[in-house]
Amino acid sequence: MKKAVYPGSFDPITNGHINIIERACKLFDHIYVVASVNIGKQPFFSLEERLYFLKESLKHLPNVTVDYNEKFVYQYALDHQAYTIIRGMRTLTDYQSENQLFNFNYELSNGKIDTIALFADIPHSFLASSVIKEIAAFKGDVSKHVPKVVADAIMKKNEAQ
Ligand code: ADP
Repeated sequence: MKKAVYPGSFDPITNGHINIIERACKLFDHIYVVASVNIGKQPFFSLEERLYFLKESLKHLPNVTVDYNEKFVYQYALDHQAYTIIRGMRTLTDYQSENQLFNFNYELSNGKIDTIALFADIPHSFLASSVIKEIAAFKGDVSKHVPKVVADAIMKKNEAQ
């Protein structure tokens, strides 16, 4: 069984992430979508909220498990016998950091963990979680770019302020 890990902060999950996950599902038997727990970095949405959004938006994909991880991604991958990490590649800026991450995971896992990058499709190539948070801060409409569960939560957060 070919398994892969798709790690990210998913703060929050966007339609760009979903597009990558749906495509990765065609390449692998099982995908672990893993939200990172960044000690020292305060996320916009709590881990519980991010996991809820992931589970709700990915429930149409039977070969996806949603999980979280407090360790290095390569350690999570080794623990789950999922020897490939999936990453999404939007622009040249992503290339540099993704290349660094690939080398880090490859070296530290003694060459056991490889990385596959999938290019963002055109409608999502300028979409990032940070952009969503910025639009949300100005009370803009994010509903075209995120699943409904996220758009609703952002609207609720804005109404409460
Ligand atoms: P971001 O980089 O937006 O904060 P994450 O850290 O959650 O998001 O990213 C997880 C992975 O998803 C990274 O490899 C990132 O490059 C990729 N990704 C993020 N947004 C998109 C998108 N719109 N299209 C394709 N890949 C994306």
